[in-house]
Amino acid sequence: MANNKKKCSFCGSSEDEVSMLMVGLEGCICDMCIDQIYGAMSEALEFSNGLPKNTRKKKKNPKVTAAIPKPKEIKKFLDQYVIGQDDAKKYLSVAVYNHYKRIGQNMDDIEIEKSNIIMVGDTGTGKTLLARSIAKMLNVPFAIVDATVLTEAGYVGEDVESILSRLLQAADYNVEAAERGIVFIDELDKIARKGDNPSITRDVSGEGVQEGLLKLLEGSLVNVPPKGGRKHPEQQFVVVNTKNILFICGGAFNGIDKIISGRLNTQTLGYKAVQQKHVIDSKNLLQYILPTDLKSFGLIPEIIGRLPVLTYLSPLTKDILHRILTEPKNAIIKQYISLFAIDGVKLTFEDEVFDYIVEKAIEFKLGARGLRSICETIMVDAMYEYPSKTGDTITITLQYAKDRIEKLNMNLYVA
Ligand code: ADP
Repeated sequence: MANNKKKCSFCGSSEDEVSMLMVGLEGCICDMCIDQIYGAMSEALEFSNGLPKNTRKKKKNPKVTAAIPKPKEIKKFLDQYVIGQDDAKKYLSVAVYNHYKRIGQNMDDIEIEKSNIIMVGDTGTGKTLLARSIAKMLNVPFAIVDATVLTEAGYVGEDVESILSRLLQAADYNVEAAERGIVFIDELDKIARKGDNPSITRDVSGEGVQEGLLKLLEGSLVNVPPKGGRKHPEQQFVVVNTKNILFICGGAFNGIDKIISGRLNTQTLGYKAVQQKHVIDSKNLLQYILPTDLKSFGLIPEIIGRLPVLTYLSPLTKDILHRILTEPKNAIIKQYISLFAIDGVKLTFEDEVFDYIVEKAIEFKLGARGLRSICETIMVDAMYEYPSKTGDTITITLQYAKDRIEKLNMNLYVA
């Protein structure tokens, strides 16, 4: 009697010897062979990705290059969220464009170096907002870390690798996505060298951290504890390649204006000579910043070398603060109008209210960050009362705003 049992065309096992047999036009394949082929293919793919440069497939990544917005488009996007700071936006747009172009670069080409960025500007001038907006536009994982919590390995504080743990978390532990992400390191100025005198105690939160950061910034394979925290012997690590991670650093660098003005010779006899050649805007000296000023401030030359794009943020003027209040896509005032609209209430403001809020933000020395808390103080009663009434209109008058703030001042006084 002929044996009609179907057999796997690869291993010859018959259908009752395997759990599953898939039947095709010309033959069959069993579940074990599918498993084996899948394993071999995955290995082959991994292998081709990990080969040395010259043996890797020489193919640029068309998906990456096609998707990167041009510098002007990036700047236009940033304009929707960040008011002013045109120089910083321009530098960032070009650096980000080049960075993502570099990721999609043909392996044959001249290797383009990483364009990590450093932004210098007073607190509350929009450094974090710029970095966050860039990440939003590119839809890449984004992490913010504060350099002040970092210490050299082995000391109380966080290891530099914890920066990448945050990025991994932001990427939902997708290592490949994290490897194309953006990290914003805030308060970089706080890890400046604490003076030129060699001291007996090691500078574990300053120069030591700068040295630790070097390997992250330049691009290397880093063992990252996925949940953060200190490294310990039994810990599992995830290997993250930082080659394509864009690092954007920010800091106020308080006092650097004196270094700049010293360099520009503004405090000596030479000042007039310099001034005659170029009109120096002494209210915004950061615009003249050079890498040498960062070195004088206490950053080590190796770190400065790995942050080749240096830009600055200007102090926020009254006019800019006024615009921040009303213009950005998610401006504070627009947010209140939307909040009231949800309850069917049309909210309007007398124009003078905006000037008043800006004046108060300047008076309280709160900058842009203060705009929100001042608005909140003015609006809290209205937000409490009006959801219970619908189909109404409310206008915030200058007098109403003044009364609310004066009440707050009184509260402060009583406290
Ligand atoms: P920094 O990082 O420079 O300390 P942030 O970017 O955190 O400052 O700014 C604080 C807040 O102030 C932001 O969330 C934003 O609401 C507002 N802000 C500051 N600068 C600007 C700006 N140029 N345009 C729009 N909003 C700004």
